[in-house]
Amino acid sequence: MDILTDNQSFMNFRGSKINHKSIGFVPTMGYLHDGHLSLIKQSKLKNEITLCSIFVNPLQFNNPEDFEKYPSNIDNDLKLLTNAGCDAVFLPKNEEFYAKKPVLSFDFGNLDNIMEGYFRPKHFSGVGIVVAKLLNIVKPNEVFLGQKDFQQCLVIKALIEDLNIPTKITICNIVREKNGLAMSSRNSRLSKVAREDASIIYKTLIEAQNLYFANYEPKEIINQIKTKLEQNEKLKLEYFTIADTETLQSYPAWNQYQSGFGFFIALYIEGVRLIDNLIINQK
Ligand code: AMP
Repeated sequence: MDILTDNQSFMNFRGSKINHKSIGFVPTMGYLHDGHLSLIKQSKLKNEITLCSIFVNPLQFNNPEDFEKYPSNIDNDLKLLTNAGCDAVFLPKNEEFYAKKPVLSFDFGNLDNIMEGYFRPKHFSGVGIVVAKLLNIVKPNEVFLGQKDFQQCLVIKALIEDLNIPTKITICNIVREKNGLAMSSRNSRLSKVAREDASIIYKTLIEAQNLYFANYEPKEIINQIKTKLEQNEKLKLEYFTIADTETLQSYPAWNQYQSGFGFFIALYIEGVRLIDNLIINQK
């Protein structure tokens, strides 16, 4: 596996031997787990070459402590990527990547005002900047993203469409621990007990789904679930909501969700912020 740590050497690599091959790309922030590796696997199935990037993007952290504490283990990541058959990894250095602080910022309109966008001001602008830079350097045919960060997928889709970036998006399923907890690099910051407690997140999503199948209205489901979670002293709920899978808008009646809907949740356990979702396609 080729390891490239500066823009020029990556672009030289990109412009030479792999130039005429189909390129799949998996952008990550490292501390890799089976969720990331499932994206690599998908990319390898569909493309001749698979490239990965590892970069903890400071611009997308609204909380400096979250950035400081973001886990890292590059040696192990490189082993995992080699074993997974990744062809090359790009490890940009902050000093070069942001040698000049970007003057640009992104506003993703309604997609940016709710859920993650509401609770993490400027987060998606930072995501937009890093993804736009990476796509310009890597120039992939296809980018692989995880449904776990569903709102991020919609934001990147808007970025790609609005700027006519010639890259296809593929969204991959959420990979979970045995207890249902969505895999996340941040899970490593949880104690063993908290990792078990955190299984409540997926259980809650399933419970919401069951209430939907039992013909409860959106508002009733939101109220029931919120009340239950707010009584749980082990966690601090940030949001639980139901939103349209294209616009992320919420509606009072199920038939107003034109393209399907999802249950979306964000909460803190042991001070670690965790997100998850469950998408229901009505059609
Ligand atoms: P991150 O390193 O957390 O920025 O994630 C890099 C990519 O991996 C993003 O597209 C994530 O949505 C995706 N990802 C993270 N966790 C999972 C998971 N449990 N299952 C599938 N994809 C994931």
